[in-house]
Amino acid sequence: MSLAARLSAIDDRIADAARQAGRDPGEITRIVVTKFHPASLVSELRALGVTDVGENRQQELTAKRAAVEEAAQHAGGSDGRSPLRWHFIGQAQTNKAAAIRRASDVVHSVDRVRLADALHRAADGDEVCDVLVQVNLTRDAGRGGADIAEAEQLAEHVLGLDSLRLRGVMAVAPLDEEPAAAFARLSAVADSIRRLAPSATWVSAGMTGDFVEAIHAGATHLRIGSAITGPRPARG
Ligand SMILES: *Cc1c(COP(=O)(O)O)cnc(C)c1O
Repeated sequence: MSLAARLSAIDDRIADAARQAGRDPGEITRIVVTKFHPASLVSELRALGVTDVGENRQQELTAKRAAVEEAAQHAGGSDGRSPLRWHFIGQAQTNKAAAIRRASDVVHSVDRVRLADALHRAADGDEVCDVLVQVNLTRDAGRGGADIAEAEQLAEHVLGLDSLRLRGVMAVAPLDEEPAAAFARLSAVADSIRRLAPSATWVSAGMTGDFVEAIHAGATHLRIGSAITGPRPARG
């Protein structure tokens, strides 16, 4: 199957799941996760109308974004398409915060006060960076994400940093649990944070293996990689 065919097959499944859940497919953003894949794949996706892409490592994100933007200019600059939105979805080291902020439009993985502070300090002028509080739904504290019990406090902290705009929450479902049960916990955290910040409406959840369950649990942003891009090449 071609890239275009895989993309439209996934979009059909997203739309079906949304309708089944009584939701409007238009309120769901599909982010294509392009990690490990070359910049040329991102350019192909953009030519197919993709507007949102996700990366999980800062160096790869920085290099790929530069390469994609250069290729677009080389191809004649304005091709009538809006610029891509780049989503950072990986665990973030505090000392990479400035580079992550420079290369991303949205940071999904704010999971501690120190990281939020570092992203805020890296602000350039008065531009604002969209962020999500990442919630750890597993029992393993080593996984990315704030504990459910701490997520609300972290959200309050982010609300005090004026160069960050809190948009909502993000999570990855644990491997050893039904995704629906895990996403229900995320949905409860999302509700409590929305009470603090009514505009923090995004719920970033759902990957290739569990996006249908995520849609049923209220996800607004899906992060889908391999079902669209095909298997990931080995990291070089
Ligand atoms: C890789 C990745 C995805 C996409 O995974 P697929 O199973 O390939 O769809 C989504 N979210 C995060 C945080 C990832 O690292």
